[in-house]
Amino acid sequence: MKLLVTGGCGFIGTNLIRRLLQSDHYEIINLDALTYAANPNSLHMEATLSAEALNRYQLVRGDIAEKQFVTEAFRTHSPDGVIHLAAESHVDRSIDGPAQFVQTNVVGTFNLLEATREHLRSLSPADASAFRFLHVSTDEVYGSLGETGLFAETTAYDPHSPYSATKAASDHLARAWHTTYGVPVIVTNCSNNYGPYQFPEKLLPLMIIKCIAGESLPVYGTGQNVRDWLHVQDHVDALLRVLSAGVAGETYNIGGDCQLSNLELVQRVCGIMDEIYPSASGESHSSRIEFVTDRPGHDFRYAIDASKIKRDLHWQPQHSIETGLKNAVRWYVENEPWWKAILDDTYQLQRLGETASG
Ligand code: NAD
Repeated sequence: MKLLVTGGCGFIGTNLIRRLLQSDHYEIINLDALTYAANPNSLHMEATLSAEALNRYQLVRGDIAEKQFVTEAFRTHSPDGVIHLAAESHVDRSIDGPAQFVQTNVVGTFNLLEATREHLRSLSPADASAFRFLHVSTDEVYGSLGETGLFAETTAYDPHSPYSATKAASDHLARAWHTTYGVPVIVTNCSNNYGPYQFPEKLLPLMIIKCIAGESLPVYGTGQNVRDWLHVQDHVDALLRVLSAGVAGETYNIGGDCQLSNLELVQRVCGIMDEIYPSASGESHSSRIEFVTDRPGHDFRYAIDASKIKRDLHWQPQHSIETGLKNAVRWYVENEPWWKAILDDTYQLQRLGETASG
């Protein structure tokens, strides 16, 4: 099966493509613009990928917001399905510069849907009915919860940041292309992912890197904002289940049943770091937690009701937060060259401290 994956050099894409290539069932065409968030070297870091697997992989550099590039990619590669991950994904950046978010998340998704619609016309009825356009989205489209409640697939959209608003717009386009044109779209809305290969501006890697550097650990507001955490490998499992067994036109929420406040998460990271990478002063890393001015419009709580995907597609998260987080923290400690290369090329650690987020 030849899959066109967009954004495959990002955090989730890297983990997904590695998994897909481990099965000789898949050939992967990765469309990626290689923005600041991409690391094309991530796939080559582990010996788990054989030369044979890498032969089934091709990176095609380009911007999904450019119609011509997307049309050409479909013509050249004639995929059997699409997994659409490419996005501008960082909330703080969306507040500073929303225009790029509209381009990639909205216009880019529109171009992919249109190219898929055109492509389906060239397929045999059997190939067209097996085709899936898997649109990967976020729980942030649902807005913010109070102290109680969960987001279900039927929860009304209420996005608050430019990031979540553009993802919401792209979800609406994807569903409309199914309803109006019969494009076999499936939408997934997932909670916060953690795990290896996450860009160091995001909360978990940022905190680990700051622990290693002995710097203060900036936490927004009072740290009480709650997120539902899921290991990226569990998200990948869910996407593969949806791709193989999901019903076109349906939406599946994906989450880890693991609600933690940002402060709790940072404290857990500090506890793990105290064991595996004690601070030079001998004090707990948590002594350097510092509360900083809150993000504007910071959603209070996200939490997912994932009962539909569990019931209909028999998916279950496999990683507990205890072992998943421990392994993830250890990965960043042991793979310093991976994140150091990113920091040295494009960022100052000091600057990242000003934009810590979950
Ligand atoms: P990421 O920021 O790590 O990676 C995004 C990738 O998309 C990068 O490789 C980047 O180069 C590429 N890209 C960006 N703009 C592009 C463009 N115009 N054309 C082509 N490629 C472009 O993102 P991620 O965390 O891996 O998230 C992937 C998807 O999953 C996103 O759609 C995001 O909304 C969704 N999601 C992420 C999370 C999470 O916790 N990370 C949770 C739920 C949903």
